[in-house]
Amino acid sequence: MPPIMLRRIAEYPVLLKRINTVQKIKCTAKETGEFVKLFVDTTDDVRKLTKYLEEQNLEYYVISDKAEKPVKIVIKGLPINTDVEEIKNELTQLDYQVQKVNQFRKFKTKELLPIFQIHLSKTPNIQDIYKIDQLMYMVVRVEKYVNKTVRQCYKCQTWQHTSQQCGMKPKCVICAGQHESLNCPNKVAKSEEEKLPVKCANCGGPHTASYKGCPKYPKIDRKVTPGASYASIAQRNNNAVTDNPRGGKSKQEGSRPPRDQEIRSEQETSRRAEGVNSGGIPTIEGGVQNNMLSINGKLCKLI
Ligand SMILES: [Zn+2]
Ligand SMILES: [Zn+2]
Ligand SMILES: [Zn+2]
Repeated sequence: MPPIMLRRIAEYPVLLKRINTVQKIKCTAKETGEFVKLFVDTTDDVRKLTKYLEEQNLEYYVISDKAEKPVKIVIKGLPINTDVEEIKNELTQLDYQVQKVNQFRKFKTKELLPIFQIHLSKTPNIQDIYKIDQLMYMVVRVEKYVNKTVRQCYKCQTWQHTSQQCGMKPKCVICAGQHESLNCPNKVAKSEEEKLPVKCANCGGPHTASYKGCPKYPKIDRKVTPGASYASIAQRNNNAVTDNPRGGKSKQEGSRPPRDQEIRSEQETSRRAEGVNSGGIPTIEGGVQNNMLSINGKLCKLI
């Protein structure tokens, strides 16, 4: 059961006791910076506890349950015009439960790419999917889909959850004020002077809360030393986040220029826009090099 992240209050040990003894919710806690992780055993208790926290006017968010999330993989090597339904049928015949098949597109031109992303249910045979090397008589490579961006909440601007899972007070992405970003007074300001200064809701710095160069932005890229090449950054990221079932990346994968890596903001706002514009089909950033240069630039400034 994923934890409930409670915005730390000084008297939380008293609260914890009350949760257990008065509310009769079996709950343990672990401190983690400005949040306290609250662990309960059942989904029913998650519901009870979040309801209670809401009644107490406390800020919290719920981390998504990984067990319910689909396994995402990518298949490379199929012809660009392969019918997604055909891939679905083939994998279904191999006893996989396919939820969705997407074909990647280039970010800017929207051109289709010969890379297919598959969402699969967690069936007992799921790890075998990485062993597939042929599909529809084509030699293919199956890889884990690695999302390198961190989900940021549209409502409170902290990470790892969506606004639907959020029990925090709203914070504006632009000015850090206690209002939803859509209601920012800056949107209706008649002159520049009337506008509130841009302020980060997470670090207080002079940038929007979605700025990836924010010192609080939880991104593995931040550990990269300035001037490192894109390939080495990507490789490091792969090493850092992959849980490749075959036990580490092959040499081929490590040395291949990761042109098709996805570099795109996954803030909820951009996701929504994407859903509207392209029917939710994942896109891939075309200008990878430029992008990384700018990321490197930000990194240099940070360090
Ligand atoms: Zn939130
Ligand atoms: Zn605002
Ligand atoms: Zn910041």
